[in-house]
Amino acid sequence: MSSQDQAGTAPVSAHDLAARFTEAFGGAADGVWQAPGRVNLIGEHTDYNEGFVLPFAIDRTARVAVAVRPDRTVRLLSTYGDQGIVTTSLDSLHPGTAKGWTKYPLGVMWALRQRGIDVPGLDLLLDSTVPLGAGLSSSHAIECAVISALNDLTGAGLGAEEMVLATQRAENDFVGAPTGIMDQSASLRGAKGHAVFLDCRDQKAALVPFETEPAGLVLLVIDTKVSHSHADGGYASRRASCELGAEVLGVKALRDVQVGDLEEAAGLLDEVTFRRVRHVVTENDRVLQTVELLDGAGPAAIGPLLDASHVSMRDDFEISCPELDLAVDTSRANGALGARMTGGGFGGAAIALTPVDAEQQVRTAVAKAFSDAGFKAPDIFTVSPAAGAMRIA
Ligand code: ADP
Ligand code: MG
Repeated sequence: MSSQDQAGTAPVSAHDLAARFTEAFGGAADGVWQAPGRVNLIGEHTDYNEGFVLPFAIDRTARVAVAVRPDRTVRLLSTYGDQGIVTTSLDSLHPGTAKGWTKYPLGVMWALRQRGIDVPGLDLLLDSTVPLGAGLSSSHAIECAVISALNDLTGAGLGAEEMVLATQRAENDFVGAPTGIMDQSASLRGAKGHAVFLDCRDQKAALVPFETEPAGLVLLVIDTKVSHSHADGGYASRRASCELGAEVLGVKALRDVQVGDLEEAAGLLDEVTFRRVRHVVTENDRVLQTVELLDGAGPAAIGPLLDASHVSMRDDFEISCPELDLAVDTSRANGALGARMTGGGFGGAAIALTPVDAEQQVRTAVAKAFSDAGFKAPDIFTVSPAAGAMRIA
């Protein structure tokens, strides 16, 4: 039973996508590549503090069929939305000029050209099963599928680390989103049955076993449908608090503060900054503890860490919202071993690690609780730790 079956969002097969490509653009595609969205298991707002995160690639992917063109024209089409074919040229790749979804593929092309890679004109068809704006990083799924395709088609031979930095450049400097390296690291480095333990200071990555099914568990995603936005002042102000905290404590980044330093830090920081700092410091510690448990006791043991992470985000970092709190509390009350909001906050999705036997009860209870509270109906589906970006045809 996959999330795709439950959500009715089965991906278009590589064969069908190639056929649709030919219908749309005429010639045949040179190949089809896919890259997954991601869920962050634990480690929230630790990335820009040079700390630890533990995301995993999910079984929902963006797929692109691509053909190189002999000229400088770029034609882009998504099966989602009604924008139709967008036609542009390699000569008009400038930051801030692209509109809609095309800024993601064009941003990747721009970033690769900035690196001196001779990206050709191309035709590209996108189909994705990663829900948009739910905090599962649908935008990075697109970017990682595109960079995988271009890396192969140009023979650039970039490794994962270089592709991570190029997609970050695309997001930061072309799209204009102040994102870190977590999402694309999960999408590019993920592996089936594993989470990606990532050190955001030096980009060191290690796969950690994370298999839900053999443990009799499912990981439920509860998309609250409350839209989150990085443009939101909330994100910028949290970042600013972290920078202030690091400055006052005299460290390069909050990564360098340990749980044992917090008591002293309380006397040096104003009350709000201290709580922001405490979230980041304890969250880093929870990531390390989670990795240790996954390496040993297994996934059923990490519930209390997920719960503690949510409380920290709700009370110390103050980035939750009533819908996320309700999703988390209701999941727990109905049998989930642990639950937390995931992603940047102020909306988006929660995750609930749930025994298979309790899955239906959690789903029903959350749907009812949302209805009783007068909230929009949430979208509830399972995800499993899946493979990272790859060529599929
Ligand atoms: P997230 O990455 O968390 O899903 P973002 O706001 O960063 O949220 O990215 C969502 C954007 O990605 C959408 O507004 C849209 O431009 C683009 N996008 C994602 N999936 C698709 C798709 N299948 N077709 C077209 N655009 C898409
Ligand atoms: Mg995104």
